[in-house]
Amino acid sequence: MDYVLVTKELSKQYGHSKILNNLSMHVPKGAIYGLVGKNGAGKTTLIRCICGLQKPTSGGYTLYAKKHFDPRITQARRRMGAVVETPSIFLDMTAEENLKQQYMILGRPSEDGLHELLELVGLSDTGSKKVKNFSLGMKQRLGIAIALAGNPDFLVLDEPVNGLDPQGVVEIRELILRLHEERQITVLISSHILDELSRLATHYGFIDRGQMVQEISAEDLNAACRKCTRIGVTDTGILARVLDEYQLEYSILSDTEADIFGTIGITELTLRLSHENCEITTIKERGEQLESYYLRLVGGGRDE
Ligand code: ATP
Repeated sequence: MDYVLVTKELSKQYGHSKILNNLSMHVPKGAIYGLVGKNGAGKTTLIRCICGLQKPTSGGYTLYAKKHFDPRITQARRRMGAVVETPSIFLDMTAEENLKQQYMILGRPSEDGLHELLELVGLSDTGSKKVKNFSLGMKQRLGIAIALAGNPDFLVLDEPVNGLDPQGVVEIRELILRLHEERQITVLISSHILDELSRLATHYGFIDRGQMVQEISAEDLNAACRKCTRIGVTDTGILARVLDEYQLEYSILSDTEADIFGTIGITELTLRLSHENCEITTIKERGEQLESYYLRLVGGGRDE
């Protein structure tokens, strides 16, 4: 397979804390690679390393077949655009002025697709409106336009839908899908909003405590997902205790929701839980979802 990015035993340490621990990752050409991990798992640190904003403590990575210490990595990096944490934009300028600024930095004439780019990200009608008056979603899309100004074929987005309203989330999703389909851009996207990620990703890398736990294609993941029962209860702490007694496999999703695998006797479970003052509020058969798969993989628990 042809890979855009490969990390090999990449480690990053701050003082005594190992944030990335011998992490190996493979982003295939043409993929939308979803980097999945809880808060603090090391996603941003990993992205900062591959963007050249942080130096690995040991191990390394290859971008377009250039090793990270090879001087030619600079050329390889020109093929990459990134939005890491908050997009770097000037709030007192309009969308067009911001993009012109980036074109100037890159030495590109503004006739060279600037208006098409604004159109692509849905900001062509913002006129003289200053970015400080933009919604978060608009700012995020402008950040992506700036990252696209160098015409990259690899786009890296760190938590692009964090904090966006549902409309904003859909707009970013549609934009990423367009970039992937129409421009054949390979995308690396980190998120802990797994439901959203599952609508986009063709490949996944699951990281936990700085380590790569599994890399899998969306196709293989779908095949590996099992049927389960999603159950809403008043207290998943009690539910977990009862399910342990029955030796059933489960993932706790929140204080009030869990996925149970295998066959369960609903009547018996309802009675047993009501003895413990725990009520069942909802119950639904479904295929295992990405979130539950991830929790099963990393041993359950919620964001720390
Ligand atoms: P989030 O979704 O919360 O951003 P993340 O998976 O992106 O999580 P990172 O931001 O990479 O995680 O942080 C991983 C860990 O590294 C955290 O515990 C964080 O406190 C720590 N960390 C990050 N940068 C530094 C730094 N410059 N110095 C010390 N510790 C750091």
